[in-house]
Amino acid sequence: MTSSLKDRSVVVTGGSKGIGKGIARVFANAGAKVVIVARNRDQAAAAAKEIGQGAHGMAGDVTNLRDMEAVAKAAADRNGGIDVLCANAGIFPQAKLEEMTSEQWDEVIGTNLKGCFHSVKACVPYLKSSDQGRVVLTSSITGPVTGFPGWSHYGASKSGQLGFMHTACIELAKYGITVNAVMPGNIITEGLAGLGDDYLKTMAASIPLKRLGTVEDIGHAALYFASKEAGYVTGQTIIVDGGQILPESLEALAQA
Ligand code: NAP
Repeated sequence: MTSSLKDRSVVVTGGSKGIGKGIARVFANAGAKVVIVARNRDQAAAAAKEIGQGAHGMAGDVTNLRDMEAVAKAAADRNGGIDVLCANAGIFPQAKLEEMTSEQWDEVIGTNLKGCFHSVKACVPYLKSSDQGRVVLTSSITGPVTGFPGWSHYGASKSGQLGFMHTACIELAKYGITVNAVMPGNIITEGLAGLGDDYLKTMAASIPLKRLGTVEDIGHAALYFASKEAGYVTGQTIIVDGGQILPESLEALAQA
């Protein structure tokens, strides 16, 4: 079904850890040539080494358009163009809105939303030359579907990514580029582990499938959007959350 990724050039932002590393691994296992981007060069290189199969790590900050243009050029020079961008880099610090500073708001929106714009804009010149140009965004259930105290800025950034996508997919359709988004629920990553054991346990209990997601669960959904077979799918989302958004109350879970 997804053999079409063999030898494709793939850029994964935020690929040094968590979901991005999972996406990078799934694509590398499918035969793609993967470039991993993160601010910390050593961690990007270490993730690439761990994944193997020709994966390569590069330093780049999605909040900086020039950085992303340099990364896109280096990735294209290395792998003969860019066929797939997985715009995944993101942060999720918590701050309730009554205490939230303007700087905290800007940091989250600047990384998650503006960083997504920078990544796409920088890669478009190369994606245009691909016969299978694909953009896969990592959004979230938080924002577009659900809310969680402390994440009003984060939720706005993740909803904003979908608003961005709805117009980007129309503008880029003339080049045959598709733009889609994966919406993860709670996925076990370094970033999520930082929220503490209590959070992880309570979250797992609230999910019908009774477990947090794995980074590979997200990687496989991204792989579908990037595949040749998904060439007629654009501007769409897939929720990968173990059914988390479905129970209308705790009672609904208790009675199952
Ligand atoms: P994570 O484990 O904290 O990893 C974040 C990755 O993004 C790292 O590679 C980090 O590397 C990179 N990054 C952060 N800021 C960056 C910047 N300015 N420029 C370039 N790279 C940057 O996070 P995660 O849990 O895997 O989350 C990844 C994405 O999935 C995010 O967009 C997040 O919103 C989304 N998501 C996660 C969950 C979840 O449950 N984990 C659920 C829904 C959505 P450096 O620090 O070295 O830059």
